Amino acid sequence: MNRRQFSKIIGITAITPVTTLVLSHHASGAEMVNPDSPTAKGLQFMKNSDKEGMRCSGCNFFSAPEGDQGSCIIFNGGLVPSTGWCSAFQPKK
Ligand code: SF4
Repeated sequence: MNRRQFSKIIGITAITPVTTLVLSHHASGAEMVNPDSPTAKGLQFMKNSDKEGMRCSGCNFFSAPEGDQGSCIIFNGGLVPSTGWCSAFQPKK
């Protein structure tokens, strides 16, 4: 094995755990937003909106709906119920 082949193998070996970690994180899916977390409390997040016509399902930051939940950009991709609300709500355009 020459120096170039050795470097290539070492490079692949070093990158593989990082790639595996990133992919496994995505594969495991995002977690539900904890209403008791500091961010959620700061944004007055609630699982069931009491605001007329304002729900996560109609928010510009809500994406990838699946069932009764979807991903929220404001919560770093965390899952929120389609019935939820927080003070960062912005209607879809
Ligand atoms: S920003 Fe607030 S209202 Fe909009 S989807 Fe996220 S949690 Fe729901």
